Amino acid sequence: MSFKETVAHHFPGTRSELMYVAQTYDQLEALGFSAENSITCVGRCRDELTRPLKLLLHHAWGAAFELASLAGMMNAGRTGFAAAIGHAPTVFDRRRYIFYAFSHIGIAADGSFGLSLRPGQPEHTTTCGALAALLMEIHDGRVDDALDEADWEQSLLRRRLLPLINSAEPDLIDLTRIAHDAMLEDLEHLVALTVDPGSADYAIFTGIQIHGPQSKNYVWPATSYALVDGKRHSLMPGS
Ligand SMILES: [Zn+2]
Repeated sequence: MSFKETVAHHFPGTRSELMYVAQTYDQLEALGFSAENSITCVGRCRDELTRPLKLLLHHAWGAAFELASLAGMMNAGRTGFAAAIGHAPTVFDRRRYIFYAFSHIGIAADGSFGLSLRPGQPEHTTTCGALAALLMEIHDGRVDDALDEADWEQSLLRRRLLPLINSAEPDLIDLTRIAHDAMLEDLEHLVALTVDPGSADYAIFTGIQIHGPQSKNYVWPATSYALVDGKRHSLMPGS
């Protein structure tokens, strides 16, 4: 199966990251969001492969508050979100927050998933590496969910995802979707804890970043909506 066939089969509706950013920008601009009146928060894996999407979002919306952690988990917590909320511009007594968050996966030219060919490397490596490491532990039956002080983020990732895995033999696509769903749930929970919809509008865009051959990146859009003046607007279709 080729890259294109694997993406079409598992992630229908995927588009280039440039198109994704342009589409979400246009949708929010129509609802009154702009670079001048909003703050953007970007959740993504620490992996350098995720950076081009972050830079496109910076270009569209200005400097973003960084929510990066391994596999894109929402480890910034209530304190991190409160900081981001506190940094937003106030225009006519109203604030606007834009949250983007992504889990990610590499897909090779031959359609193999979970693999990326990185610049200067002769062999493919795993993407997302944090999820691949957890998957290996599951397959080997050696999962230890204790908190490791030398490995906070992977420990938290393990604890967050393990209860959500129903399959005895999950693959990396399964785990990437589970990571996305956990990330979205945590994002919405933290927004509910820190955002006052009476004085602020906000938007949530989540999805899965796909790293393809020739360093080309794509986005499979999942959840996309905005809450403006307390009214919910469904935006881009999920897939
Ligand atoms: Zn990763």
